[in-house]
Amino acid sequence: MDWNSPIEEIKGVGEKTKAYFQKLNIQTVGDLLSLYPRDYVTYKNPVKIKDLVVGEKQAVYGRIVTSPREIKVRNLRILTTAVGEESGTLSLTFFNMPYLKKVLKQGGWYVFYGRVQQKGQTLLMEQATLFSYEDYQKLTQGLHPKYSLTKGLTNHNLQKYVKIALENIQWKEEYYPQWMQSETGLRDLKNALWNMHFPCSWEELVEARKRLVFDEFFTFLYYLRQNKEATWGLENAHLMFETADTVRLLEKLPFPLTKAQKKVWQEIKNDLGSKKCMNRLIQGDVGSGKTILAILALLMTVANGYQGAMMAPTEVLAKQHFETLQQYAKDYALPFVPVLLVGSLPAAQKREAYAEIASGRANVILGTHAMIQEKVQYKNLALVVTDEQHRFGVHQRETLFEKGENPHIMVMSATPIPRTLALILYGDLQVSVVDELPANRLPIKNCVVNTSYRNKSYEFLAKEVMAGHQAYVICPQVEPGEMEELENVVEYAEKLKSVLPPAIRVSYLHGKMNAKEKNRIMQEFHQKNIDILVSTTVIEVGINVPNATVMMVENAERFGLAQLHQLRGRVGRGDAQSYCIFISTSEQKETMERLQILNQSNDGFVIASKDLQLRGPGDLFGIRQSGAFSFALGDIYQDASLLSLCSRLVDTLFQKDPNLSMPEHEKLRQNLAERGGNLVDFRTI
Ligand code: ADP
Ligand code: MG
Repeated sequence: MDWNSPIEEIKGVGEKTKAYFQKLNIQTVGDLLSLYPRDYVTYKNPVKIKDLVVGEKQAVYGRIVTSPREIKVRNLRILTTAVGEESGTLSLTFFNMPYLKKVLKQGGWYVFYGRVQQKGQTLLMEQATLFSYEDYQKLTQGLHPKYSLTKGLTNHNLQKYVKIALENIQWKEEYYPQWMQSETGLRDLKNALWNMHFPCSWEELVEARKRLVFDEFFTFLYYLRQNKEATWGLENAHLMFETADTVRLLEKLPFPLTKAQKKVWQEIKNDLGSKKCMNRLIQGDVGSGKTILAILALLMTVANGYQGAMMAPTEVLAKQHFETLQQYAKDYALPFVPVLLVGSLPAAQKREAYAEIASGRANVILGTHAMIQEKVQYKNLALVVTDEQHRFGVHQRETLFEKGENPHIMVMSATPIPRTLALILYGDLQVSVVDELPANRLPIKNCVVNTSYRNKSYEFLAKEVMAGHQAYVICPQVEPGEMEELENVVEYAEKLKSVLPPAIRVSYLHGKMNAKEKNRIMQEFHQKNIDILVSTTVIEVGINVPNATVMMVENAERFGLAQLHQLRGRVGRGDAQSYCIFISTSEQKETMERLQILNQSNDGFVIASKDLQLRGPGDLFGIRQSGAFSFALGDIYQDASLLSLCSRLVDTLFQKDPNLSMPEHEKLRQNLAERGGNLVDFRTI
C-alpha cells in the first residue's frame, strides 16, 4: 500500500464506506492520511464532585446512589439516576438509552464523563459517557483524534481506518536533502503522520504538525518560485498610455483619492507603461478602497483599445463588480462595455457572452472562474485583475494568464499581513500597499457582550433599520458535512422575524445555497429590499453595501479574531456611524479578554498576532486566523517563522539546483511529481 493506493485497499473499506469517503473527497490512502483531526480530546483524571466546574467536560468516579428510573415523555425515554462519593452527588440523565437501566446497578462504581450543568441547586450531567475505572485510566493517556465526519462514518471507524493505513503504508525514505534536514530539524513523515493522528502528547503533536505544515509551505513556495521564474521579466506586450478618461473620472469622482490610493495608482500606471509586464499585488485592509484602483486600471486598458478582466472568488462578488462597473459607465460616460460571466448563467446567455468576448465587443469581463474555462476566447486580453486573491489558487490565475498573451496581472487582497510575509506569500508579485483608510470614515463602535445582551441588541437592530440602515447577523460556520449550518441560519432568521417588528424584512444566506439563490439574496440586500441579512461567513469577503451599519456576530468566541476583523470590515463603509456587536456564549474571562482585543486595534495583523499570543498549544488547533490561504494546516500568522525559514530554503534550492536535477534532490523531485500537483492551489484567499 502506498500514498496513491485507492482507499478500498484498506482492510474493511467496502463499496459503501468508499462512497462515504467519496463525500469527504477521499479517494486514496494518502487522502485519508491528510484528513487531519479537527480536534483532540484529552481525558483528565476524574475530579471530586465538589470540584466540578459548570460548563466544562469532566469525569467523576463514584457510586450509583439511587436506582435508575425511566420515564417516557412523548417518544423520548428519559433515564435518571445519581452518582455520589464523599464530596457530594451528581444527577445523571440519559435520553433514549434504555439499555443503561440494566447496566447501571445501584451501588456500582463507574466513571462518568460529560459536560456539567447546574439546574437550581443540583449539579447535572446529561448523556454522560460511561466507563469502567480501568478503561478510563487507559484513555487518560495520549490525545484522541476527532475528525470531521460525514453521515455513515463514525469517529471510531475513521480512527480504525487511519490506523490501518498508518500500519500498512510503505514508508519511503526522507525526500528532503540532508542539507535541508539539518537546517529544519523536522520529524520524518512517518513520525509526523502517526503523531498527527495519534499523538502521545501535545509536545509531539506540535512537532508533527510542524513537519506537515513545512511540507505544505514547501510545495507552495516551490511552485510559486517556479511561476516567478516563468513570468518575471516578460516583455510588456500591451504598452499603455494614460488617456483623458482616467483623468476625467478622477476629477468627477465624489471623493478625492487618498494619498495611499494615489501612490498605488501611480505605480500601476508606471507598470502598464513600462517595458515589463505587470505582476502586482495590491494589498489593503478592508475598506481601504481597492476597487476604484481596479476600475482605473481597467479604464486605462479599455481606453488603450484592449480587453480587461476581473475575476472574483464568488458569484455574488462578481455580480457586485459588474453592477459597479455598469454604474460607473453610466454615471461618468466611460467607454466600458461590461459583460458578466458566471457559472449560473443560462446556456444561451453564456454563449452570447462568449461571442461578445471573442469579437471584442465586450471590453471588460467580470466573473468567477467560469471566465477561465476552455470555451472562453478573448480577443485581446491585456489586463487580468483578481479580487480577493485568497480564494483562488495560483494555478487558476495562471490559466487566466494563459488566455491572453502575457496580460498584465493585478491581484487585490485584504489579508492583513506585514510586508515581510507578503513578500514571501506573494513572492511572484510586486507588492503595493494601500495603507490608509478614506478620511470620511467614522471609527466603528464595537462591543463584546454575553447572551443576556441579545434582546437589547435586537432592539438596537430594529432602531437602526427604522433609521433606514441595514444590518448583518452572522452565525458560526459549522464543520463541512454537518447540516447544522443550514439550520442555524434558517432558524435564526425565523427567530429574528418573530421578535422584531413585522415591517422589518429579514432574510438569510449560507454557503450551501445554490449560486442563483445567493445572487438573488445579495441583489435584494443591495437594493435595500432586505433589512437584516442573517448569514454564515460567506459574506466575509469583499461585499460592499455601504448602507449596512450593524454587524452582529453570534458565538463570536468560535471565530479567529482576524476573521472577525474581516467581518467587521463589512460595515463602516459609508459615512454613517457603524456598530459591531460580538456576542459571546462563553462567559470565560479569557474569551472575553481575547475578544476585547478587537476594541483595541484596527490593524488586522496586530489583532491576529495578539490573538495567538493569548492561546495555549491546545487552542491552536482548529483555529484559523484567516481564510486567506487554504493550507490544510498551516496558518500564516501562527507559523510565520516556519514560513520564513521555508522561503529561505527554497531560495537556496533555486540557487543550487532549480530543476532538481542533482542526485541529492532526486527524491524531492519525485515526491513533488507524485504529490505536489494537488497541492499547488494553496493560495486561496
Ligand atoms: P475594499 O478595499 O475593501 O475593496 P472598496 O473598494 O469596496 O474597499 O471601497 C469601500 C467603499 O469606499 C466604497 O463604497 C468606495 O466607493 C469608497 N471609497 C473608495 N475610495 C474612497 C475615497 N478615497 N474616499 C471616500 N470613499 C472611498
Ligand atoms: Mg474589495
